[in-house]
Amino acid sequence: MKLHTINTGFFKLDGGAMFGVVPKVIWQKTNPADANNLCTWAMRCLLIEEGNQLILVDTGIGNKQDEKFFSHYYLHGNDSMEKSLAQLGFSTGDITDVFLTHLHFDHVGGAVVRDGEQLKPAFSNATYWSNEKHWQWAVEPNAREKASFLKENILPLQESGRLKFVAEQENIAWQKDINISFAYGHTDAMMLPKINYKGHTIVYMADLLPSVGHLPLPYVMAYDMFPLKTLTEKQAFLAEAVENNYILYLEHDPVNECCTLQHTEKGIRVADTFNLSDI
Ligand SMILES: [Zn+2]
Repeated sequence: MKLHTINTGFFKLDGGAMFGVVPKVIWQKTNPADANNLCTWAMRCLLIEEGNQLILVDTGIGNKQDEKFFSHYYLHGNDSMEKSLAQLGFSTGDITDVFLTHLHFDHVGGAVVRDGEQLKPAFSNATYWSNEKHWQWAVEPNAREKASFLKENILPLQESGRLKFVAEQENIAWQKDINISFAYGHTDAMMLPKINYKGHTIVYMADLLPSVGHLPLPYVMAYDMFPLKTLTEKQAFLAEAVENNYILYLEHDPVNECCTLQHTEKGIRVADTFNLSDI
């Protein structure tokens, strides 16, 4: 197996919303905000080469929305899905499987592209993976989460006939050396791939832990549907991670790709940060 970081660029989100109840005077020390109170976040996807499969985990925000939509998110940086794949000698048509941790626009936006008047899957030969519970949650969204579940990101995948569901069962074996964990606090039935790689377990954290800045337990995003559930899920996961020396792969951390954890007097905190290519 080979793993590759796929950078798709940076966006900005309100710092207060990203840190929930934590006051700005505290979070701004590690995540400085701009004049509009926005902080920069990565949209860092993951590519898994395994046998004949080329599996992409999440897809970034994509490029099909209108100017007004993008004006809220201040996309920046030189990376895109196509460029990052090309640097590895791949194109979108080579991807065999697209695994969607959940269907918020910054994770699934890149899965669908505009082709004239039509919307079509961006990865023309891929099977798309979600789970039934999350899919239902996304296509009939609650009013609070509706702005994150955009129909144009989601419905064309189903219409293409290439959508499949992972069975919702904790730590289910999905592919060779890839198991899936489920989390329910950020949104219903978000999926976290756990990958056996070079003798390590690498966990793609999605929005259970967006960045190292979110390690302290009360640092839960205001975007989360069930913040206390996130808190207990994070607590249990961090204990499991430190116990088993997991490597955490961070989708949204603007600087750090990966980290390991250790116990400290303050609780579980970062031990090391490094890039995936250093493993
Ligand atoms: Zn999310």
